[in-house]
Amino acid sequence: MKRDLTVLAGLLPAAVLFVCLGRAASQDWTPLFDGRSLSGWKASEHPESFRVEDGKIVCNGPSAHLYYVGDVAGADFKNFELKAEVMTTPGANSGIYFHTEYREAGPPTKGYEAQINNTYVGHGYRELKKTGSVYGVRNQYKSLAGDEQWFTMHVVVTGKRLRISVNDTLVVDYTEPAQPVRTEQPPLPDRLLSHGTFALQCHDPESKVFYKSVLVKPLPEDVAVPPLDQTVVDQPYLEISRLQSIGFPLVDFHAHLKGGLTLEEVLEHSRKTGIAYGVAPNCGLGFPITDDEGIDRFLESMKGQPVFLGMQAEGREWVNLFSQEAIGKFDYVFTDAMTFTDDRGKRIHLWVDQEVEIDDKQAFMEMYVDRIVAILNEEPIDIFVNPTFLPGAIREEYDELWTAERMERVIDAAAKNEIAIEINARYRIPGPAFIKRAKEAGVKFSFGTNNGGRDLGRLEYCLEMIKECGLTPGDMFMPTRTSAQ
Ligand SMILES: [Zn+2]
Repeated sequence: MKRDLTVLAGLLPAAVLFVCLGRAASQDWTPLFDGRSLSGWKASEHPESFRVEDGKIVCNGPSAHLYYVGDVAGADFKNFELKAEVMTTPGANSGIYFHTEYREAGPPTKGYEAQINNTYVGHGYRELKKTGSVYGVRNQYKSLAGDEQWFTMHVVVTGKRLRISVNDTLVVDYTEPAQPVRTEQPPLPDRLLSHGTFALQCHDPESKVFYKSVLVKPLPEDVAVPPLDQTVVDQPYLEISRLQSIGFPLVDFHAHLKGGLTLEEVLEHSRKTGIAYGVAPNCGLGFPITDDEGIDRFLESMKGQPVFLGMQAEGREWVNLFSQEAIGKFDYVFTDAMTFTDDRGKRIHLWVDQEVEIDDKQAFMEMYVDRIVAILNEEPIDIFVNPTFLPGAIREEYDELWTAERMERVIDAAAKNEIAIEINARYRIPGPAFIKRAKEAGVKFSFGTNNGGRDLGRLEYCLEMIKECGLTPGDMFMPTRTSAQ
């Protein structure tokens, strides 16, 4: 569209251009904002929170919402495409509601909100839902847009299917099931697809957000939609939906593109399940990435993708293979204690049964806990993964060998160094006793699959542990830096 306009502008006098644009818009996109005034819009509670400046709607002031009440489609949209050009300032929160209706005060209760938040962290609560989230329904934890730069938000509703793209990258593809789970407090029973108008949010006085354009394309009522049976509503699906609605961050930070699993498959699985992903290459001696150039190549290949990027640091010598600068380009860094040199000077991999000789189980455990504590004290990591993993020969004795004292040593070291501990879905570790003690000590947790092949699952063990150990959103790890986009 933009390119076409430039060509037209170069060839045609202004008057002709105006006519052409008018016709093009009626066949294609129709502006809801005229670029000069708030004609066609009605603000709730604090109209002063919205104004037009230099051809942009500025949202800044006390909490209020600006509803579209103009003539396009009678301000009642069912199937549609909406495209907005948006810019945030640091710490700003906004959003575009759709299928909604005017309310004198408070946020809209009908319809959905396409969230706009690149760096807002919340006041009095921890806000993790980033730009492109369907608020409380499909949450994005990594923003694909930055402050002080224009980005596009594209919302498409066709029947019960809802898609959102940020800067042309698809981040949400959600099909609303027949009986969706809506349990947020207060419950919003009308957080559903139906029909209605749009509203722009002014979230709070510290938030300043600009809208340069708001374009809509109404779609026919009978537009083809994919069958609803794509969404299998089973127990994990319901549990994931419940957690999404209370803002519990569901991120699998330990996914590997291994065994033929492609990034596109990870993203498709993510859109289907609602679980966000962190993709981590293995970095270390004898692994796919062995130097800074390898890190740069990987990050370049993942640029702009809606996944976190993690570094799985391997072996113990990784700390000397990469520069701090290169390591710092990842969203987070993790390692495990499955590779080390034992007291006899032999390098062992705990998952390779033939390499692990255990004459004395207690002595082995003491040595293993020493190694773990050393890693937590010495290596600059954010997450300790595959924690408490035991080799096959002694795995059955997990509860006896992981004594209270050994658990405490690991937990103390993690707490002291502010390292999160992974709850691993593949190995179903650590056990609930460990998790409860770690939570008590203030340790944060991450979820991870550590897939060996293409099956990512749905964090089943982690979902169990949320319930069994009473984990809350505040217990969860979230990266504080963001990899270069
Ligand atoms: Zn791994």
